[in-house]
Amino acid sequence: MDLSAVPTTRRPSPAPTAWAWILDRPARGPAVLHSEGCQHASERGRPLRTEAALDALAGPGTVACTDCDANDVLVPILHHGQSGPSHPLDSGQD
Ligand SMILES: [Zn+2]
Repeated sequence: MDLSAVPTTRRPSPAPTAWAWILDRPARGPAVLHSEGCQHASERGRPLRTEAALDALAGPGTVACTDCDANDVLVPILHHGQSGPSHPLDSGQD
């Protein structure tokens, strides 16, 4: 058997658009964006994709949580004016 013909179709690294965010709307104050799984996100939070999260953050009345990846990831993207940075996300905080 010749296995050299087996296709190796590995997809390139996934774009950060697959990132999941939580838009939390507290009873008072601005809406807060969290990364999925953030301990500060409430059960009332709505899941958003990155594009929707950026749209929300670009508008008034929405802030990014500074205790999770929301602030570190979304704010730089917003300031760069693009939703698909080609550089890898540096989330290492050890
Ligand atoms: Zn958070």
